[in-house]
Amino acid sequence: MAATGGIVYLVGAGPGDPGLLTRRGHDLLAIAEVVVYDHLAAPRLLDLAPPGALRISAGKSIGHCTLAQAEINDVLVEHARLGRRVVRLKGGDPYVFGRGAEEAEHLRAHGIPFLVVPGVTAALGATSYAGIPVTHRDAASAVAFVTGHGHDEPDSPGRLDWPALARFPGTLVVYMGVTRLAALCRTLIREGKSPSTPAAMVQSGTTARQRTVVGTLDDIPDLVARSGLGPPALLVVGDVVARRPGLAWFEASPLFGRRIVVTRPADESDRSAASLEALGAEVLAAPTVAILPIADLGPLDRAIDRLGSFDWLVFTSANGVRHFLDRLEARGRDLRALGPVRLAAIGPATAEALARYRLKADLVPDSYRSEALAEALAARVAGKRVLLARADRGRPILKDELERVAHVEQVAVYRNADVDALPPAVLARIEEGTVDWITLTSSAIAERLHALLPEAARLRVGREIRLATISPVTTAAVARLGWTVAAEAAVFTWDGVVEAIVAAGRQAQ
Ligand code: SAH
Repeated sequence: MAATGGIVYLVGAGPGDPGLLTRRGHDLLAIAEVVVYDHLAAPRLLDLAPPGALRISAGKSIGHCTLAQAEINDVLVEHARLGRRVVRLKGGDPYVFGRGAEEAEHLRAHGIPFLVVPGVTAALGATSYAGIPVTHRDAASAVAFVTGHGHDEPDSPGRLDWPALARFPGTLVVYMGVTRLAALCRTLIREGKSPSTPAAMVQSGTTARQRTVVGTLDDIPDLVARSGLGPPALLVVGDVVARRPGLAWFEASPLFGRRIVVTRPADESDRSAASLEALGAEVLAAPTVAILPIADLGPLDRAIDRLGSFDWLVFTSANGVRHFLDRLEARGRDLRALGPVRLAAIGPATAEALARYRLKADLVPDSYRSEALAEALAARVAGKRVLLARADRGRPILKDELERVAHVEQVAVYRNADVDALPPAVLARIEEGTVDWITLTSSAIAERLHALLPEAARLRVGREIRLATISPVTTAAVARLGWTVAAEAAVFTWDGVVEAIVAAGRQAQ
């Protein structure tokens, strides 16, 4: 067993918002060799696993299995036996109505080591985001998590003691109850619960698709039927529901419900996505360009070995900083190799990347683009030796401008590679028009997106699917592609893009 090194991590994915994954869960996904995931786990979490990891859908749809539980159990054992690190990613918490215990017992029976990482269960996530506290000093001192699923006779639900639940002095949260809602409510009323007890149904809690319907035990089935709410949804019954008007917050977030495609390279997209998700948006990651190590390291190594001969070292991206300094270390050197060389960064993200290595940028221009960097540098580098550390492709303007006054060398420290295709799920969403925004953070990314989209999808972009760009340079490139830009960052950073989308939403109201 352990001799093979295989292990299964039962990880709670949380209720939907990818930001609710635990740090342990995040770390384990990052080292996973196999990920077996549920339908309810946020798709974006799969991007946290290494690109080469095997991703297996357990195909569980809302509360029902399409892949038999026995098959899931076997898949886990099979991969662990091959010595692999397997993450079993389960919606919410693995042990709350998730059959996680059955999987763990099966693993134990087969001698496979496992560990469990709890997750934010839907009853806690969806209620918090809907503004319903599950307990409250004045309204509920207890809470019960109940399953509404698995009873043959809707009106006499089997294993549960409904008379006891009707008397339960606290909040009831019913999972998997949406299709049996009328029967559930009827049963509780018949067993003595007041028909006027406040009740709410929360669908897709913690996601941009969250919807909440509020009523009483008596009328909630009708209200839900009329509103068209469906799974995954929770029924919440109790006086705490009445607290919602004073506590709702998520549905009022500035980007709540917006569906936004992020086209940045994969290693930047998680942080970028998180800042949109924190404002209520659904993020679809569709990297159009990949950041890769440079194929021929010779020129970079030679530049690193001659670092002492340069007066200025100029970075135009955070990736440039990382790849340059990581290579320096890989060559057996350390930060002292930089000596007295002065450091320039094109903008705050690049300066921040330097700061992570305890380095301070000597120069950051006021406006975060090549023209401004060239201008700010030109005044200080006359007659000096300048090393530009950058991607293998990009605009030549910085080199051209600086060469007028200084000795400039340019070295590629990482490579931009075009991806072959957009993720099919994201492409489908663009084609069916269920996307509100696409962000574009460079001309190259815009051009690549254009090339990857089929004609019909291209026609939607810039119209009902709006474009947000990072700068006028990107906007100009987008215009050359025939697309219209709806929002442009005032400050040329990712935060600037986010702010521009928020501002566009404010204007629309
Ligand atoms: N292990 C999961 C529950 C799995 S059972 C957990 O801890 O959350 C599936 C049920 O969970 C769904 O039928 C629904 O009732 C509930 N559920 C899951 N995600 C939800 C969400 N985002 N909003 C509302 N209910 C959700």
